[in-house]
Amino acid sequence: MNAQPRKVTQVVTPQTVLEGAGVRLKRSMPSSVLDYVDPFLLFDHFGSSNPDDYILGFPMHPHRGIETVTYMLEGVVNHRDSLGNGGSIEAGDVQWMTSGRGIMHEEMPQPRDGNMAGFQLWVNLPAKLKMTTPRYQEIPSGRIPEIRREDGVKLRVIAGTVDNVSGPVTEIAAQPTYLDVSLPAHASFSHPIERGQAAFAYVFEGEGTFGVTDEEGEACSRPRLVVFDDGDSVKVVTAGQPVRFLLVSGEPLHEPIARYGPFVMNTREEIEQALRDLRDGTFVQ
Ligand code: MN
Repeated sequence: MNAQPRKVTQVVTPQTVLEGAGVRLKRSMPSSVLDYVDPFLLFDHFGSSNPDDYILGFPMHPHRGIETVTYMLEGVVNHRDSLGNGGSIEAGDVQWMTSGRGIMHEEMPQPRDGNMAGFQLWVNLPAKLKMTTPRYQEIPSGRIPEIRREDGVKLRVIAGTVDNVSGPVTEIAAQPTYLDVSLPAHASFSHPIERGQAAFAYVFEGEGTFGVTDEEGEACSRPRLVVFDDGDSVKVVTAGQPVRFLLVSGEPLHEPIARYGPFVMNTREEIEQALRDLRDGTFVQ
């Protein structure tokens, strides 16, 4: 059987939105054109050299039923939560937070040399894990393996496996791959993704052609979120410009989604229960 490269089904231009206490960010999903890419529910790109765009941050707020994944490129996010955790996510670090049945936390971006940039991804939890015990995986930059290929392609492996190198984030229900990929000009990158998994790329520097097959490919320059069709692999090539993008894939849940702000459950009743728990002071156990 021939391995089939994945085509692009959708290219999304992120919209500027205000979140938290007034953080200006670029949101690719959910939006009017892309609700979610099961099991991925939200993708935000924040980045600015003006502290007014982010300094008010995300004061104490709840989550239930999802995982939030924060990956920093510049600056730092100070965080603390209802479990007694606290610390900072620095440039190059990842925090993979499994909210499970409930967590309250604060995420406050701070500049370093004026700049602040990073991403937040929400990964859905299957019904059987929505009320699981909250868990953090905090990965300092130094623990994220970097691969440098002879052709100049560089990868940081946050989750998943590339060239027999596995990322430090493990035991996630969606069995995700999360890669930070840099291609120089006139380069080519191909990565196998198991058939049936959902996959997208987020282009945040430069430009390249995504979803390259024998017949087609989609030229994309930053910032764009690129959704891939099903298939066996993803191919990206560059011409005169380098490109840097995140490549994310995971196992779809195919379960009903009831979302309300920071809660994502399977039914309306479960959302109402979350609101009751919050009101009654039983949200965090
Ligand atoms: Mn949060």
